Amino acid sequence: MAGRLNRVLVLTGSGISAESGIPTFRGPEGYWRNFDPTKLATEAAFVRDPATVWEWYRERRERIAHSSPNAAHVALVELAAAANEFLLVTQNVDDLHGRAEWNGRRLDPAQIVQIHGDIFATRCSNCDFRRRNPAEDVGAVPKCPVCSASLRPDVVWFDEELDPARVRGVQIFLEKGDCDFVLVIGTTAVFSYITEWALAGRGANGRLIEINPDETALSPLADERMRVPAGTIAGTLVEKLVDRGLKSEAC
Ligand code: NAD
Ligand code: ZN
Repeated sequence: MAGRLNRVLVLTGSGISAESGIPTFRGPEGYWRNFDPTKLATEAAFVRDPATVWEWYRERRERIAHSSPNAAHVALVELAAAANEFLLVTQNVDDLHGRAEWNGRRLDPAQIVQIHGDIFATRCSNCDFRRRNPAEDVGAVPKCPVCSASLRPDVVWFDEELDPARVRGVQIFLEKGDCDFVLVIGTTAVFSYITEWALAGRGANGRLIEINPDETALSPLADERMRVPAGTIAGTLVEKLVDRGLKSEAC
């Protein structure tokens, strides 16, 4: 049996889903009609024009539902299987990490934190009502069955705070000790918590590896930068990390 890694943290952004045909917000296909997604994915836009925001989310739900996990999503399932402790923190609201399969296995839902929420979930803009059944979200702006207020996608918008319960989930993993490897894949890392978690996860002895074709805010802090599309890491990534993990153990 191949050697094992001890603790691994992976942080992903929209770039990991680009090869599944889901556009990143800031990439060339990012704009929807003539809207800038970073302005549309806001509570302010929803208050102003909830029907347009819902239309955009419906189109994105459709596109994601018809997409499949790519080689990079699959490689992370293999990586999780090689690690004693594994956590994936994704900024993606798509469900491709959860659907990816390697050797008939998937990530345990407890190994995934969707820090910006789930595009297929809906919640009330007024009360605590929540559901995850997009087929029920009918009408230009679906209404809450409890209080009749507008329902909204259960995602974290740019002008909103993270869900404390999800943040706590990341912190609990980080408090258990340093990681052998932290991988940061397909994110511009513009949110400071991404960089903070990457550095906290690496601790004193781990290695921070960035996988992204472009330079990002995190690049200067990484121990290694792989300037390639995420899909190309599949097949060799796990072997490479396990091999290096064993070598450093032997030192
Ligand atoms: P971003 O659009 O700011 O950055 C995407 C990053 O991915 C860039 O650094 C780019 O160089 C890189 N990239 C592009 N193609 C890649 C590839 N093939 N392999 C590896 N990297 C590649 O995205 P972000 O930093 O994730 O932040 C935008 C926000 O928008 C996030 O909060 C996220 O919730 C949301 N979002 C989610 C999805 C999704 O769920 N798939 C899609 C778009 C936006
Ligand atoms: Zn309600």
